[in-house]
Amino acid sequence: MRLVTLRMGDGSTTAASIVGSAAVRLPFSDVGELLAQPEWRSIAADGGPPVEADPDDVAPVIPRPGKIACVGHNYAAHVAEQQVEEPRFPTWFAKFSAALCGANDPLVLPLSQSRSIDWEVELAVVIGRHCHRIPRGQSDEVVAGYCVANDVSVRDFQFRTSQFLQGKTFAGLTPLGPALVTPDELPGGSPADLRIVCGIDEEVVQDARTSDMIFDVDRLVHELSWILPLEPGDVLLTGTPSGVGAWRRPPRFLQPGQQLVSTIEGLGSLRNTCVAEPALSGPDLSGPGRLGPGRLGPD
Ligand code: ZN
Repeated sequence: MRLVTLRMGDGSTTAASIVGSAAVRLPFSDVGELLAQPEWRSIAADGGPPVEADPDDVAPVIPRPGKIACVGHNYAAHVAEQQVEEPRFPTWFAKFSAALCGANDPLVLPLSQSRSIDWEVELAVVIGRHCHRIPRGQSDEVVAGYCVANDVSVRDFQFRTSQFLQGKTFAGLTPLGPALVTPDELPGGSPADLRIVCGIDEEVVQDARTSDMIFDVDRLVHELSWILPLEPGDVLLTGTPSGVGAWRRPPRFLQPGQQLVSTIEGLGSLRNTCVAEPALSGPDLSGPGRLGPGRLGPD
């Protein structure tokens, strides 16, 4: 199954299932609400009426995850490019749901605050049921499916202090989607060896396989679930391969006008065009994103 959260044009969203090239409506406002139903698989399989909406106008597939848990330093070649030791344990950090945006949304670069905004294509794991202290080898029972993310990072804020958070959770800089893809849709039913690619316009800047992960999906779900219970709709970002901008010589960062294309075999692509933020005249007290309601994800 391929499940999406579609924008309906009136400010609302709906969960939908992609059947062929069409979307059919499911009776929940987003995929996160769908996953909160223990019988979500049969609800999604039953389907519903066709959706009158642009199938590419997707919100973050899980708009308001209870947790977004991320891992740094998880691909051997990425660890090597930073000249740090291979870790013994996953390097966990978090981001907030206001950091999310849709798979085809503009990336509004906060250029008044930073000129070092960098790309990180990542495999995202979505949890499908409540679980706590999952033994190794049993993550298949609790994972709903997978999608693509780009952990777009504001590097100077990331390295202001020893904690990554402030550089990792800027508003609307983390596209998540386009669809939640259940494991049965993947080659071999597993995300263990998928090609993962990041492009800027026509240029490939990251090109690896998920088999290069130091800690695989099963290990990550196991480790996090021993720290705290996981819930339906929780999202894990599993780290990025080598090829990010900050460790290139000279360093390179995202610029307005560039299209960031993040692709994982079997899961689809995110296509986010970088735009400069509007000139700032003072605090933004206007509510949802400056490009209009819903364009920057939830707030
Ligand atoms: Zn990352």
